[in-house]
Amino acid sequence: MKTIAVLTSGGDAPGMNAAVRAVVRTGIYNDMRVMGVYNGYEGLMNGDIEELSLRSIGNIIQRGGTVLRSARSAEFTQESGRLRALETCKKFGIEGLVVIGGDGSYRGALEFSRLGVTCVGVPGTIDNDIGCTDYTIGFDTAINTVMEMVDKVRDTTESHSRCSVIEVMGRDAGYIGLEAGIAVGATSILIPEFEYDFDKDVLGRMQNTIVTGKRHFVIIVAEGVGDAMEMAKKIEQFTGIETRATILGYVQRGGSPTVRDRVLASRMGNEAVRLLRDGEESCVIGVRNEEIVHYPIEEGLAMKKTIDVEQYRMAYEISI
Ligand code: ADP
Repeated sequence: MKTIAVLTSGGDAPGMNAAVRAVVRTGIYNDMRVMGVYNGYEGLMNGDIEELSLRSIGNIIQRGGTVLRSARSAEFTQESGRLRALETCKKFGIEGLVVIGGDGSYRGALEFSRLGVTCVGVPGTIDNDIGCTDYTIGFDTAINTVMEMVDKVRDTTESHSRCSVIEVMGRDAGYIGLEAGIAVGATSILIPEFEYDFDKDVLGRMQNTIVTGKRHFVIIVAEGVGDAMEMAKKIEQFTGIETRATILGYVQRGGSPTVRDRVLASRMGNEAVRLLRDGEESCVIGVRNEEIVHYPIEEGLAMKKTIDVEQYRMAYEISI
């Protein structure tokens, strides 16, 4: 394979730049030309592409977001859009494509690979909700950001003996809520995977800790579970404890990637290009028990991930 391309797609995540850098450096190390595609599949259809040099991706390993920018593209979900993207690949001689994104981007890669371009998916999403990998690029940075933010909120929560309801990202997946909730010692962690009972799991848990002298509380709520503002109002109403809601929002998607995300992204970006170099079929990359693995895209997409029930139980046990 002489020419490959790399793009970032879907929701951005810290560490995507480190993956792009690894793809470019590995490609050039292996005598390939590496094209950078801007704005995800949109740029692939429109030919928004330039060749990346060793130095053009310098000084990005520490930066959040993605220098290739990201986009969502309705047109690419149509065959006509993908055929336009194929024309671009032919024009630039692109034989292999590294797609850094979430499972939506993987579905796009699966469809596109059927047109004859080998695609390798690299998991980049803060949600950690991709079945074929233990960790996704960006997750570690996101949970560290949540932890830092909650630690700051907690100082004032403690000084005023308040309750803080913190809304974190996670419409369908509670990985951020669970890990960050454990890290901040939340009294209650409410995530989409588990039904909760307001009286028992929020008020009851607060009440139990009040009896033993606790005077400030942090409740973590994943966005998919409900409205943090309303929950704060309800808590105040029922307990008489002053309660504030904080919605962390997009702060969770930004910032300089952690060591863990930079290393994971570098390993995965490197492996993606090595697979292309070795003539492997289209696939998605993951990490299992710290080892880098790959699966055919369809197989990877079919894999289900379930939240660690034991970890959830543990969080409850140690938050009394
Ligand atoms: P993420 O990759 O973060 O899950 P999206 O779900 O928005 O983000 O997917 C990113 C892009 O991948 C979409 O905008 C679309 O262009 C492409 N895509 C998603 N699903 C498909 C599909 N079934 N067929 C073709 N392209 C798809």
